[in-house]
Amino acid sequence: MFVERNIGGSEHHRYGWIEVVCGSMFSGKTEELIRRMKRAMIARQKTMIFKPTVDNRYHDSNVVSHNDNIIESSAVNFANDILLRATDCDVVGIDEVQFFDKEIIEVAIKLANAGKRVICAGLDMDFKGRPFGPISELMAVAEYVTKVHAVCISCGDVASYSFRRTKSNKTVVLGETDIYEARCRKCFYEGMAEK
Ligand code: ADP
Ligand code: MG
Repeated sequence: MFVERNIGGSEHHRYGWIEVVCGSMFSGKTEELIRRMKRAMIARQKTMIFKPTVDNRYHDSNVVSHNDNIIESSAVNFANDILLRATDCDVVGIDEVQFFDKEIIEVAIKLANAGKRVICAGLDMDFKGRPFGPISELMAVAEYVTKVHAVCISCGDVASYSFRRTKSNKTVVLGETDIYEARCRKCFYEGMAEK
């Protein structure tokens, strides 16, 4: 289990750090992001949560998990908007980070170097089982990477893949249980072969 370090305070902590929480759809990424942000709030740290405007499935500004946990957030168009708006924060949370432009990597580094704890949550793989957008580079520059898992909807094994039930070949097709299923490696690749 990830354990929070002290942010702010001593000389040593003038620099922050980057955390990545990743996994398939329904794996609990947003839940884990909300959990970490709420603990920081309890400790009276200044927090802000951002998400890309592309993801407005549930609510225009709030971040909402699949089991209805909810936290206030700001929707932004570009990664650089986060840099401008988070100047006053101790802890910066970013959900659905895979939808941001490549600039998000520099933004995360700059925020961490400015003394902030940066928590990025997002899909590690797209519907083809390949790295999603900037996530692999974010994982490389992060101090802490946590992979969370769902339950395979076909067999109950550990699920790491987001299986798209439709035939669309676009990387971004927003949707929920009607379009995507969490699947284990075996059930994912067997399903891909049947398409
Ligand atoms: P993510 O952000 O990774 O898509 P959330 O944090 O929003 O996931 O939601 C996690 C919740 O999704 C779980 O606590 C559970 O209630 C629900 N859920 C739905 N389908 C599954 C599944 N196949 N495996 C595990 N949890 C699932
Ligand atoms: Mg989520």
